[in-house]
Amino acid sequence: MDGVWKNFHGHSVLRGIDLEVEPHEVVSLIGASGSGKSTLLRCVNLLETVDDGAIYLDGEEITDPRANVDQVRRRLGIVFQSFNLFPHMTVLDNITLAPRQVHGVARAQAEEQAHGLLSRFGLANKAKAYPDQLSGGQQQRVAIIRALATQPRLMLLDEVTSALDPQLVVEVLQIIRELKESGMTMILTTHEMGFCRDISDQVCFLDGGVLVEKGPPEQIFTAPEQPRTQEFLRSVL
Ligand code: ADP
Ligand code: MG
Repeated sequence: MDGVWKNFHGHSVLRGIDLEVEPHEVVSLIGASGSGKSTLLRCVNLLETVDDGAIYLDGEEITDPRANVDQVRRRLGIVFQSFNLFPHMTVLDNITLAPRQVHGVARAQAEEQAHGLLSRFGLANKAKAYPDQLSGGQQQRVAIIRALATQPRLMLLDEVTSALDPQLVVEVLQIIRELKESGMTMILTTHEMGFCRDISDQVCFLDGGVLVEKGPPEQIFTAPEQPRTQEFLRSVL
């Protein structure tokens, strides 16, 4: 991201964000509610247009008005706080929908791949279940698997544990940890500071749309340089 600005109704909610994410890196965005974390992820997924600056994916400027939005989104997986599974579809159909309809994968192949992902993440016996038959943690794991099914280059995870009861958070964090081990590149927002510290290669602190400070987790959590970062961490740790 190169000098990204985003305004809503004349108010700037992202103010010149510069951020580089390397392949296989996990980058966490932290900051108070309203600091611009979700907007930043939404800009990467082209759910929002940027007002200034540029975003590049694999060297291609995706914020170029001539960029093909569908092709960009096909390379990204995004998961939100609310799981957004299709309630009238089974787990298997939720997972295979995009590979089949957007990527043109044959049903048999899409289903084989979905079964593989479900077993990998401990949900092999849930393929035929409907979302309301699953716990919140299981639904969120299915939402992550659904995003993975299109084999994205980059995963964007926006507070994926915030809607979950504490005992269900662990199983979702475990799946993210495993994704990191498998080399997936991820940008995530989280309020789980312990997890953030544990999993991130880079931590970015946002305040009022400004990327105030970024660095490896040991530095951000033990020796933040900026007073605003220090104050935020004091309030949440
Ligand atoms: P965070 O995810 O860090 O809580 P957001 O990115 O959701 O922050 O929001 C940043 C700011 O942008 C907030 O002030 C929010 O009210 C504002 N905002 C986000 N989306 C919109 C929108 N679609 N229209 C107007 N304001 C918005
Ligand atoms: Mg948010």
